[in-house]
Amino acid sequence: MAIGNMSSKKDYYEVIGVAKGATQEEIKKSFRKRARELHPDNKDSGDEKAFKELAEAYEVLSDAQKRSAYDRYGHDGVKSAGRRFDDVDFGQFQGFGMDDILEALFGQGARGGGFGGGFGRQAGPQQGSHLKYDLQIDFLEAVFGCEKKLEISALDDCTSCLGTGAAPGSNVSTCGTCNGQGQVKELVNMLFVQTYQITTCPQCRGKGKKVDKPCRDCRGEGLTRKKKEFTLPVPAGIADGSRMRVGGHGDKGPIGGPFGDLFVVIHVKPHKDFVRDGNTIHVKQNVSFAMAALGGELLVPTVEGSKVMKIPSGIQTGTQLVMKDLGVPPLQGQGRRGDQIVHVHVQTPTKLSAEEKELFKTLAKITGESLTVEAEKETIENRDSSEKKAKKDTEKSADAEPNSKSKSKGKKKAGATDEEAKEDSILDKIVDAFRPKSSD
Ligand SMILES: [Zn+2]
Ligand SMILES: [Zn+2]
Repeated sequence: MAIGNMSSKKDYYEVIGVAKGATQEEIKKSFRKRARELHPDNKDSGDEKAFKELAEAYEVLSDAQKRSAYDRYGHDGVKSAGRRFDDVDFGQFQGFGMDDILEALFGQGARGGGFGGGFGRQAGPQQGSHLKYDLQIDFLEAVFGCEKKLEISALDDCTSCLGTGAAPGSNVSTCGTCNGQGQVKELVNMLFVQTYQITTCPQCRGKGKKVDKPCRDCRGEGLTRKKKEFTLPVPAGIADGSRMRVGGHGDKGPIGGPFGDLFVVIHVKPHKDFVRDGNTIHVKQNVSFAMAALGGELLVPTVEGSKVMKIPSGIQTGTQLVMKDLGVPPLQGQGRRGDQIVHVHVQTPTKLSAEEKELFKTLAKITGESLTVEAEKETIENRDSSEKKAKKDTEKSADAEPNSKSKSKGKKKAGATDEEAKEDSILDKIVDAFRPKSSD
């Protein structure tokens, strides 16, 4: 007899996909199945809104008290449930497993076996705060993974009073307000019915004890901030801006509550040679005039050290050569390793010896190339389309003739049109990264 459909909220049983009389086990099973479908890592079926809706429904139906309130009064009976999911950053779960997400949402209980342990419950000790840590790692450490020593400062039991909050030798007695329970019952109005709600004792703030003389070091809180060191394994393939969740390394909860978690935000330092785009690594490679014309072999820097790459004859500036499987390994070993894209930059010789000059002149003679402006008219006609590109390349050597240049330019890039949009987005990044070094 749910009270009307005043809100447009969906029925929680429908959201989970079970019948009204479903057992806890059925609810849990169906919830996990749906949650996996709506998981943010699922590109096809991932759905933030639906995921939060599902989490909200599960929070209520997995808790016997809330479920019974919902069965009787509908959504109005469990008004406070679910609100906290609005603040959950769905994106932060990307790359995390189901269990981690459930644990973050519902606490230990949702993981694996047992039940209960939902968030909003006042009963029992509260979990400590989550902490954030900014970790800077090198480019190659992000590519291949690493182990990092972290020093954090987290709340833990006070050493002086062993977490009791009482000064040594002081009297500790049972709190009279809650009879040592740490909680009190409070009468609240829920629609037309009055009911009791259990809240933390306002007198002892949940401790259940009355302390004559509070401990000086922790001012009676029982907790002090302590420095802790531990080693964090950072997985290969981790991206800049990723967050890693380290369970149990946050603040200790008050009154014997469990530790919160530590969130480590990864900051990857840029590399002097490599630019990363997802799992693809871009690198710029200078190629000499002679090699560009004749072809040959070169040692190209890769994340695994220098590797031999074949340069086909007649290669042009701007050509992209692919070195397969030399990019970033997939995170958590899922999927394929990325490639390295080599951006070829043909270097025009600048300081020519007399002998070299003669050779180039001979070359020009052989190809019938005019090095003066006599053929001006023809040159201008040839310029139109290739001018923009050619201008960039020849800024420094303004005498160079741009004709006959663009003939085989697009050759290697054929079929790259579908990737052009993506290319554009990181092109700026690549250009920026490579610019300072292109003075040679
Ligand atoms: Zn203390
Ligand atoms: Zn009390």
